[in-house]
Amino acid sequence: MQDSPTDRAKVVPITPQQVETFRKPTISSQLPVHYENGYILDVFEGACSVCGGKVAAKDLHGSIVQPIKSITVIEAVGLCRTCKIAVPFFMRIKDDGTTQTRDARGNWIIGMVDEKDKGITPAEKVIALLASAVLLIGFAWLIG
Ligand SMILES: [Zn+2]
Repeated sequence: MQDSPTDRAKVVPITPQQVETFRKPTISSQLPVHYENGYILDVFEGACSVCGGKVAAKDLHGSIVQPIKSITVIEAVGLCRTCKIAVPFFMRIKDDGTTQTRDARGNWIIGMVDEKDKGITPAEKVIALLASAVLLIGFAWLIG
């Protein structure tokens, strides 16, 4: 049985912290991330959890931190201009290309950046992200 988009998405009001996240620089402006073992994270993209459409790089803002040198944590808020909503993203990316993110129900989802070519992520590789939730917002005031 297939979930409808609204089943998959948890619709909640945007928090002040998420507004702050959106006011940070774009994620793409903070890439690439170089790990100590030579691994390079150079592409990060988000998809809207309602329509599945790609969130444009200019609409995906947030922070990239390395709490320890082998793990990068990306916390971001993206805008879907089709649905006129904000979509939060949270992902951990290890220096072996392993990714962890959460689905709409809060379950951790384990994935890989690139299973064949460990070490360096090719520029064309795209990380498809699942949004943890969907936020209904007054779209205009966030970008205005
Ligand atoms: Zn959308």
